[in-house]
Amino acid sequence: MEPNFIDIHTHTTKSRDNLIQIVNLNLNQPCPEQSYYSYGIHPWALDKTDFQMDEALNKLKENLQLPQVLFLGEAGLDKMHKMSFEQQTKLLERQIELSEASQKPMILHDVKSHNEILALRKKHKAHQPWIVHGFSGTEQDVKQLIGQGIYLSVGESLLHPERKIHKSFKFIDLDYLFLETDMAEIGVETIYEVAANMLEIDLPTLKTRIFANFARIIQ
Ligand SMILES: [Zn+2]
Repeated sequence: MEPNFIDIHTHTTKSRDNLIQIVNLNLNQPCPEQSYYSYGIHPWALDKTDFQMDEALNKLKENLQLPQVLFLGEAGLDKMHKMSFEQQTKLLERQIELSEASQKPMILHDVKSHNEILALRKKHKAHQPWIVHGFSGTEQDVKQLIGQGIYLSVGESLLHPERKIHKSFKFIDLDYLFLETDMAEIGVETIYEVAANMLEIDLPTLKTRIFANFARIIQ
């Protein structure tokens, strides 16, 4: 039997037989038992006037106890966002601590912040796997992140030949690859097909390899 497709990061539930998806929820959204989820505090949350960091972190800690919550995410750093980078870093560091304590891997939002993310991984001696989601960087970014054991998840941008990910995609080691739909209204199967084509491997092989990555990090 072929392994399932895996959509490692999405915001919409699409129940289907041959699909495993990690649905990203807001802290106050309930998570039914029939799928898998991630809860995290996005750096953009700092923008909300009523945001209370300690309260949000307590709620997150509670949510991470649920067995169907497989990941902490998305959390991260965003240099293109107007919120203080210092506050973003503080929020991320608290979540790194939670990820390690609860033994849940992280799904990261990383906008022009590779160096800082790598430095935090070292500083916290983090052992949990980290996945940079929506990856669209250069060959050099691929090497830098995978070189430090960070997984990369690529989404809808793969369908646009003019994007730089088209050139760098083939440099992603298959042992560190995930695919995702994020906000896109398409099925992850479409992204798998394009990816298999670009990598010049068949679809069952790609599914097997990504499934193996998933099994490795959620054990
Ligand atoms: Zn997302």
